Amino acid sequence: MRLPQTGGCLCGAVRYSITQEPIRVYTCHCTDCQRATASAFSIGVAVPGVAFQPTGKELRPAPGGVTAGGRPKTRWVCPDCGICLCGGVKIGTEPPGYTRIVRGGTLDDTSWLMPTTHFWTRNKQPWVILPQGAEIYETQADRS
Ligand SMILES: [Zn+2]
Ligand SMILES: [Zn+2]
Repeated sequence: MRLPQTGGCLCGAVRYSITQEPIRVYTCHCTDCQRATASAFSIGVAVPGVAFQPTGKELRPAPGGVTAGGRPKTRWVCPDCGICLCGGVKIGTEPPGYTRIVRGGTLDDTSWLMPTTHFWTRNKQPWVILPQGAEIYETQADRS
């Protein structure tokens, strides 16, 4: 993959760059992600917090369900089209060492995305076949 990677929402009001190599690319098959993406699973691109740089309109916080540990999650969405670009703390308030999860499908170039980890596979659709050698977790692994 080349850097920076760019992406944005459906209407183009919010654009972003990713300036550092992702830490991990994964899918999550949990029922919240199925509902939030209106699809079968979400693609998460974990990047260092400072590496996600949005431009354009300011992202709006929207409820994102709760974690397995009961903490509320926030989705950051375009104020115009409502597409979710990422989760996590407010942009610019990331503590040192913070990892932000960007929605993989919002990248301009998704050709390099190769999820190597798959979470919540106990909720996955039966027709989704996971690749050999993938790191597979029935639920959440060690994240809470
Ligand atoms: Zn938009
Ligand atoms: Zn999920």
